[in-house]
Amino acid sequence: MDTKAFKRTLQHSENYNRKGFGHQAEVATQLQSEYQSHLIQEIRDRNYTLQRGDVTIHLAEAFGFCWGVERAVAMAYETRKHFPQERIWMTNEIIHNPDVNQRMQEMKVEFIPVEAGIKDFSIVDTGDVVILPAFGASVQEMQLLNDKGCKIVDTTCPWVSKVWNTVEKHKKGDYTSIIHGKYKHEETVATSSFAGKYLIVLNLREAEYVADYILNGGNRDEFIQKFAKACSPGFDPDKDLERVGIANQTTMLKGETEQIGKLFERTMMQKYGPTELNQHFQSFNTICDATQERQDAMLELVQKNLDLIVVIGGFNSSNTTQLQQIAIERGLPSYHINNVERIKLGNFIEHRQLNGDMVITENWLPEGEIVVGITSGASTPDKVVEDVIEKIFGLKATASAL
Ligand code: SF4
Repeated sequence: MDTKAFKRTLQHSENYNRKGFGHQAEVATQLQSEYQSHLIQEIRDRNYTLQRGDVTIHLAEAFGFCWGVERAVAMAYETRKHFPQERIWMTNEIIHNPDVNQRMQEMKVEFIPVEAGIKDFSIVDTGDVVILPAFGASVQEMQLLNDKGCKIVDTTCPWVSKVWNTVEKHKKGDYTSIIHGKYKHEETVATSSFAGKYLIVLNLREAEYVADYILNGGNRDEFIQKFAKACSPGFDPDKDLERVGIANQTTMLKGETEQIGKLFERTMMQKYGPTELNQHFQSFNTICDATQERQDAMLELVQKNLDLIVVIGGFNSSNTTQLQQIAIERGLPSYHINNVERIKLGNFIEHRQLNGDMVITENWLPEGEIVVGITSGASTPDKVVEDVIEKIFGLKATASAL
């Protein structure tokens, strides 16, 4: 499929909207009352620190909703206002936040059902409205919805669209896109659907394996097996790594994406020489600032004298997991939770570990005075952060009164 031509046609269709419907002011008031928090504003105004009783809270200086997510949520609310009677579907969670997604369902914005891991679009009829989430949708899904005559509301973040343009350029120049991301993540699925030849690497270690193969060759079968789920159909490492371009899932660690880009630049320079570099390597500069700002703020936060860190965000949120990774690398006790219900009475907390396992930790709040670092992922509303802080204040106040 000529994905570029298809997108151009889609963008000119009267069934397609990516700019909203002119209800911004009404929706802004509603969003403010549902998702914003006076307490968080107060903490921001006090230089991101608040002390109450035995607890001092340090909030990261950048956290929570990024503008891409805010924009997507606002567009979804606008869609409901604009189409009060129509059936409205989402191809996926609008963002990776359980509270926001639950609110969507209360507004009768439904998810496309998934059967055995496959979305069942048969439920969607002509004239239904379908919202594409902030991290986008695959070109095949867009085409299917367009063919069905659905009204498509595309909330894909412009930063994600920029990455799609990058892989389109790779395709045009016959470069293989090396995508730094998670092959199962919806954003990476969408990005790879716009790419020609592609290979998805999860981290620097996998990238080094690929770079070594480029320079020294290796076991072809092992390579193919290793990346079986993470490459374009028919990918041949002996032919398809002669010209490469870099792209990423926007929520990966920016520093790691840059390292991966540098690694492939060096590798191609070493193999083909500096004068031929441009024939074999395309650099990349479309990393989302919001993700980077949150990561930088987390790096500052972990420098403070903290007893523990609470990282708040959806369990399938990639950027939240990256924040937790920073805390773990610093050796700080850190607890990734998705909402306040994970904090239980009796000093228990149920939290997600980096490997995805859920564990319950007892006595997670130390006795006496404590300093707690707090941050949240790009899809977490301030209200959820407020609930967590209030709960910690409440538990410590009760404990000290005993
Ligand atoms: S994290 Fe960045 S790319 Fe993702 S939705 Fe937010 S602004 Fe867009």
